[in-house]
Amino acid sequence: MLKGHDAWLLCANSKGINVWCAAGGGHLTHHDVISVLRTSRVGKQVDHRELVLPQLCATGVERRKIAEVTGWSARWGPARLEDLPGFLGRRRRVVKGERFVRFPLWERMEMSFMWSWALIAVAALVAWGIDSWAAGVCAVTVIVCIVGGIFAALPWLVVTGPRRWLTFGAFAAVGFGMGVGVLAALGAVTSAHVWLAAGTAIVAMGVLSTDLAGTTPWYGSYINTFHNAAQVDLVEERCTGAAECVQVCPRDVLEMNGHRRKVEIKRPDQCIQCGACIVQCPEDALRFRYDDDRIVEAATIVERCRLARRQTGSSTSDKNRPSPSSTGIGSSWPPRNGTHCVARPASRISSRSCSAARNERSGSCRP
Ligand code: SF4
Repeated sequence: MLKGHDAWLLCANSKGINVWCAAGGGHLTHHDVISVLRTSRVGKQVDHRELVLPQLCATGVERRKIAEVTGWSARWGPARLEDLPGFLGRRRRVVKGERFVRFPLWERMEMSFMWSWALIAVAALVAWGIDSWAAGVCAVTVIVCIVGGIFAALPWLVVTGPRRWLTFGAFAAVGFGMGVGVLAALGAVTSAHVWLAAGTAIVAMGVLSTDLAGTTPWYGSYINTFHNAAQVDLVEERCTGAAECVQVCPRDVLEMNGHRRKVEIKRPDQCIQCGACIVQCPEDALRFRYDDDRIVEAATIVERCRLARRQTGSSTSDKNRPSPSSTGIGSSWPPRNGTHCVARPASRISSRSCSAARNERSGSCRP
């Protein structure tokens, strides 16, 4: 993928998790990046100090910390690996579309299969066991139509608010109709089969409508918020127009107003509360505000990130916080074992040989 580009590819250890989830969960931090910079000794191979970071690691990797500790200036690259050659070809300039998280059809289909295979297997076995193989085929058809159909049409569906029940009801009806249609084609329709198809559709929709801690991709989890949703909030007086938040937002929520030299929240309904803008803002001008007007300041969010990193075993400091050495982290940092990171000229490796690349490509972690 990077053939022909004069660049080195550094692979930091994200513990096998895609970059976005790893950074958000404290498994990939600026210390992992600093570690790979040092242990790879890439500084001896190049005459510049410029680093390109995947944009989606902005939820946990503080760009400024890397510059402070190593002297390397880090900039945000595109959100997706496949946009990297274009980014390098444009003299390392990200175009707007490359900043946003996309969820293309093939990834939605991949996720629909991963999501539904267990449901399909159970339904097929149960229907076959209590009736016949035709009933099993009918149950599988109902589930495939409902789950596959919802994933395929996801960008155009209403999946939030009370109207989502209309969406789900429509897909349940389509799944039921397709199941009965398959039975008719097989010449095996009985009233028991019709009830079976209806039951399968109801069970499938029941499972899909459950708050599975955010794993139901079209249904945001309320487990941690108790239906008290947070919105990103800007303290205008603190904003100096650095616009780091604009560069890292994967949902185009924020925009820079060049006349006022202030950032503006343009599309609040698009916010997925990833926190990247809050972590990267040098002035702590962004924060979360809950529906009940409770405020979570930037310092609290960064502090929670720090705790998450400690719990996951990734040592770190954070902005406005003591340095690694003064917290005791410095004694074990940087890691002496350099086997967890590699640096190779990009021209000599394919994207398939890079674990970070694989993680990014396979990570269909949808908000
Ligand atoms: S505005 Fe929302 S979606 Fe955008 S970076 Fe901030 S928290 Fe994430």
